[in-house]
Amino acid sequence: MKPLSETEINWLKKADQDHYFHPTSNLIKLQEKGPKIIAAGKGCKVYDVEGKEYIDGTGGLWLNAIGHGRPEIAEVAKNQIEQLEYYQSFNEFSNIPAIKLAEKVAKMVPVDKAKIFFTSGGSESNDTIFKMVRYYWDAKGQGSKDYIISRGKAYHGVSYGAVSATRLPFYHGGFQPLLPAFDYIDPPYCYLCPWEKEYPGCSLECAHALEEKIKELGQENVAAFVAEPVAGTGGVLVPPPGYYEIIRKICDQYEVLFVSDEVICGFGRTGSRFGIEHWNVKPDAMTMAKAISSGYVQLGAVAVSGEIYETIKNKGPFFHGYTYCGHPVACAVGLKNLEIIEAENLIENAKVMGQRLLAGLKELNLAAIGEVRGKGLMVGVDLFKDRTSKEKFPTPLGLRVVEIAYENGLICRSLLGDIVQLSPPMVITAEEVDFIVNTLAKAIDQAYQEFLA
Ligand code: PLP
Repeated sequence: MKPLSETEINWLKKADQDHYFHPTSNLIKLQEKGPKIIAAGKGCKVYDVEGKEYIDGTGGLWLNAIGHGRPEIAEVAKNQIEQLEYYQSFNEFSNIPAIKLAEKVAKMVPVDKAKIFFTSGGSESNDTIFKMVRYYWDAKGQGSKDYIISRGKAYHGVSYGAVSATRLPFYHGGFQPLLPAFDYIDPPYCYLCPWEKEYPGCSLECAHALEEKIKELGQENVAAFVAEPVAGTGGVLVPPPGYYEIIRKICDQYEVLFVSDEVICGFGRTGSRFGIEHWNVKPDAMTMAKAISSGYVQLGAVAVSGEIYETIKNKGPFFHGYTYCGHPVACAVGLKNLEIIEAENLIENAKVMGQRLLAGLKELNLAAIGEVRGKGLMVGVDLFKDRTSKEKFPTPLGLRVVEIAYENGLICRSLLGDIVQLSPPMVITAEEVDFIVNTLAKAIDQAYQEFLA
């Protein structure tokens, strides 16, 4: 793309500041510094309006599998718009791309006899499943089973249902009251274990906490437990081996549904098709979004077991749906995106490149890095002032790291808790991984020296 002129760029920046209310942004910083305007993308790279190139180290918001700027996707979207741009899926209507994508996803997910409900994103998917599980128990004559249990540091989205299950600072303050009947247990964060134990010398207290919570709330009041297989926005927290096996057993014992939030993990990012497949369990339901369409269009999905579907079906008409459920263009794009993931073996690439990224970052052994962790191309770098005492800086080092990296052509993100997120597109090459490692190393080193000075 040709860089824009200075006049055009200045106009865009001013118009952004004057008119664009940004989501999840530091609005004061936006007014002071102006927006970072991205104008084009190809593969793992994006370009700003000045024409400067960046490696997209976060894959947008954890979502890009097939890389930016794929003409095959543009072609599919164009053809579908010409054929049928939209029709509803309410009132027993359907459309061809929605049917094909439902069949494809139903056959992929590790959920028994899965049925697929489409949404436009992760928050809608989570709101949908929270309503479905309550409806399910109601249909079974157990209407008191309302509680949704999530985990500390969970991110499940920002609509009122989803944010009630989210457990990160800032997402609740000022937004109360949230929805009733949501509760949580502490997360499996081994590096800063809430129980101050050390795996494998522990008894997986993090998993057994679910049983204690169910007993505290009363089994007759708990509908579901929801977890990201690997928590993303909370800091890339990978539970220890055996964790979900215990969770599954507890859910079975106390008749609590287990929902796997695969919004980030789903469709290959962790190096397996779904995040939960790293453990030997099947969830009752899954929520999905992001890599289902690589972000080319807004799309999300919910998979429920045949048993949940039949129970809901038999209760009578199901009054929940969004205008854009099963949107034909979104579903056509989603289908093509999943075909590309398969044809180009991108799950294997995520696994291999993820190992390279993790190994490269671990080798750095910088004073500010306490832990590098992740699965596949979902990686977190946990930053500390003093990694021996595990003391954090009072203001996050990561925010400065991200600024320096950006100046040097790498987009990464600082998560709450001072952890740097890396989740590049799943098409990434070895050379691009090495660029991320080297650029981040320089940025962390420079930021650390500045903070200590
Ligand atoms: N669930 C998880 C695990 C997520 O990471 C996100 C978004 O990052 C969501 C749900 C919410 O998705 P959306 O932003 O599409 O509503």
